[in-house]
Amino acid sequence: MTLGRFAPSPTGVLHLGNLRTALASWLSARVRGGRWIIRMEDVDGPRCRRDLGEGQLRDLAALDLESDNPIVWQSERGAAYREALAALHRAGHLYPCACTRKDLQQLASAPHLEDGLRPYPGRCRGQIWEGWERALRCRLPEGSLDWEDRLLGLQSDEPARLTGDPLLFRRDGCFAYHLAVVVDDGAQGVTEVVRGADLRPVTATQIRLQEALGLPRPDYAHLGLVVAPDGSRLGKRAGALGLEALAARGISSREVLGWLGWSLGCQERPEACTPPELLGSFAWNRVPMGEVRVPEAWV
Ligand SMILES: [Zn+2]
Repeated sequence: MTLGRFAPSPTGVLHLGNLRTALASWLSARVRGGRWIIRMEDVDGPRCRRDLGEGQLRDLAALDLESDNPIVWQSERGAAYREALAALHRAGHLYPCACTRKDLQQLASAPHLEDGLRPYPGRCRGQIWEGWERALRCRLPEGSLDWEDRLLGLQSDEPARLTGDPLLFRRDGCFAYHLAVVVDDGAQGVTEVVRGADLRPVTATQIRLQEALGLPRPDYAHLGLVVAPDGSRLGKRAGALGLEALAARGISSREVLGWLGWSLGCQERPEACTPPELLGSFAWNRVPMGEVRVPEAWV
């Protein structure tokens, strides 16, 4: 059975790009009679806040997008992540990394790919893990790998080119995003990952991690980002494009859904609607691939 998920980080207000991803993942799961869950990815220390997560859940509920299962908060899943690290260690995949941020900047030879994403060149490979007080990386196999993206078609990437050996455990005791996302998709039985195109470059790394942990590979779909009317990144303006801010300007959640549905190829015009009304017309081959511009009047 299909199990889709929406997994935001509770670091701010959900903007139109996040809401578009949420709706697309809901439609894609429901159109095949599947289930859909929400997971809070709050492993990233103090930037993640419970109250922000609760606000995001309220916004999703206002759009009638409600999780079939109780919400999993990743900050409460430390035992599962530690167990996964122990399994990777037993299989010989882990090594401690003593590199400082400055070391990593000097080592990075590849051009800047995405925000802060540089491939790790493997300097500490060969170090022996002696305990939890050091940062831990996972050694991944060389070479490229293929996967089928529901929206973008056949993709081919190489973890070594994009991230290098991923950091899975930080020296400050935090578990890294790649570990948490892969462990939880596996534990929850997620079969379909719909998310923003900004995460496409890390997909090969996450698939290799799934393989190392013996977890099944979900289907992927990477949606084009929502950008400003002039095509630029939303950046700080994104916060003004949450449900509450839009409502204050007289734009209802039904109107937002109408625009989101239109942007996903479900309707010819952005007419106000509810999620179930979009189900009959949702199909991945009708979803536009590129970026979507926010209406001028909403900015
Ligand atoms: Zn290192």
